[in-house]
Amino acid sequence: MALLLSGQAASKGIGIGRARVLESGGVETPEYTLEPDQIGAEIERFRSAVAQARAGLRVVADRLEQQVSSEVREFIETHLLMLEDDALVEAPVEFIRGRACNAEWALKQARDQLLVAFEQMQDDYFRSRRDDVDQVARRIAGALANRDSRTLVTEEDSLADTVIVADDIEPAELSGLAERGLAAFMIETGGPQSHSSILARSMGVPCIVGVRGARQMVQEGQLLIVDGERGFALIDPDGERLSRYRERQAEQRRRQTSLLRLAGIAPRTADESPIALWANAEQSKDIQMALRNGAAGVGLFRTEFLYLNRQTAPDEDEQYEACVATIRLMDGKPVTFRTLDIGADKQLNLGQDPHEPNPALGLRGIRLSLKFPDIFRTQLRAILRAAVFGPTNLLLPMINGCEDVLQTRKLVREIAEELDAAGVRCKADIAIGGMIEVPAAALAAPQLLDILDFVSIGTNDLIQYTLATDRANQAVARWYDPLHPAVLRLISAVIDTAQAYRKPVALCGEMAGDTRFTALLLALGLRDFSLHPRGILELKEALSRLHRKPLMMLKRDILAASNADAVAEILRMP
Ligand code: PEP
Ligand code: MG
Repeated sequence: MALLLSGQAASKGIGIGRARVLESGGVETPEYTLEPDQIGAEIERFRSAVAQARAGLRVVADRLEQQVSSEVREFIETHLLMLEDDALVEAPVEFIRGRACNAEWALKQARDQLLVAFEQMQDDYFRSRRDDVDQVARRIAGALANRDSRTLVTEEDSLADTVIVADDIEPAELSGLAERGLAAFMIETGGPQSHSSILARSMGVPCIVGVRGARQMVQEGQLLIVDGERGFALIDPDGERLSRYRERQAEQRRRQTSLLRLAGIAPRTADESPIALWANAEQSKDIQMALRNGAAGVGLFRTEFLYLNRQTAPDEDEQYEACVATIRLMDGKPVTFRTLDIGADKQLNLGQDPHEPNPALGLRGIRLSLKFPDIFRTQLRAILRAAVFGPTNLLLPMINGCEDVLQTRKLVREIAEELDAAGVRCKADIAIGGMIEVPAAALAAPQLLDILDFVSIGTNDLIQYTLATDRANQAVARWYDPLHPAVLRLISAVIDTAQAYRKPVALCGEMAGDTRFTALLLALGLRDFSLHPRGILELKEALSRLHRKPLMMLKRDILAASNADAVAEILRMP
């Protein structure tokens, strides 16, 4: 009987292969006290380990430079930056000096302190940075122990029949493995938002994460099936299961290939209603995919990604160049830049309190921008200047009422006048939209739509704030219910109001790209979906099977339904 291991689904697809179980990347941490005259040499030993770790990573980065996605390169760059960060490099030196302890122990203390700080962050993106701290510290520890970071390099050229089982996988390791066609991997740590998962998705490697005890349960060389869609793995499957899974795998491959036929086809429902599919983008790779898959434009450009992985905020010209490049790439299709949407982030060092008692309800999104007008002005100047190169919209995150919009509009007016007076070209009458992410904004949609040009429903946050359920906390995951009647009523009310005002309304949360919700969203009257460009073809196909008009007749029943099962029943969801 095959043994089943469960974890969390993190990257779709089925991977079949022989297990390669990796030893932990961590090393035992020795602890001892130094004599005063040994301290100088110990500091030197530590510094040369950091230099060695940096050199090792540089080699990987240079080798991969041309071959991998920019996402992977960014992660590696982040690790290189961390190897220059005082918190990881100077703090241990202070420990060695102050406590006369050995370098390994000093590194562990510095690492633990940083991990606690990252753990307290609310935003799942920033919380996932803790993985980086851990991986970088491991690299230095490896150099101290006089060995390379875990060597995954194997003899074979192809890993198409290998499934990696590990505690965690570094971006540099994963990219090297993916290049050789790794079948799948499962790790004991992480969640769907952690870096390994993000990378696995971007590289199309099936994976499951958070599989407790995986390395104890699996033996080297055992046959494994990893189901990245349902979040489990089978150890030593019998012949019948194996052939069933091989058939599913082949079917998925056929499906991926056949979806390519939809790239140049306009999205329509089976009853010929035109639908607009917009792209959520963060970097130029996404833009290229958006264009390939026929996106109507960029519905959500998350500008915060221009600020991440660096020590200082980008200046106006750098932001301007990035915006111009995006607008030019889209070649006449609209680009919607969302203004900075971060929470408590030390990297930007804007002067906000990194220990806000309740960051999810604190200085986030537009609030942070209005609180630090210099940063906001710089961003707005860059976007207004870039907007002369093609159709551009401005989108405001986390608004909770009219005041946020009015203040921003005033700032935009002032900046346009300033630029005009200085003889700099800009687009003064840029369209300004608001993200509907908090229930207050959804309920105040009529007032907001009086002063906004369009709205975009951010269900990721709208669900979290409506249901008082942290979107990144696994412990409350079962309360995070996109089909809760309160959520559906808010979405529906916003769509109705915007349509009554004859103003565009899109939905840009994860729900838009999840084809389990396509019929529902059509029933609620949605026509503009904004999603990761990777999902566009699948969504086109799902739309082509659905009839919009009969679905819209179900709206009243859907809104009266008391729970997800009842909604599913009405829509006969899979
Ligand atoms: C959302 O909240 O739905 C959204 C799209 O914004 P983000 O996921 O960037 O918070
Ligand atoms: Mg959001």
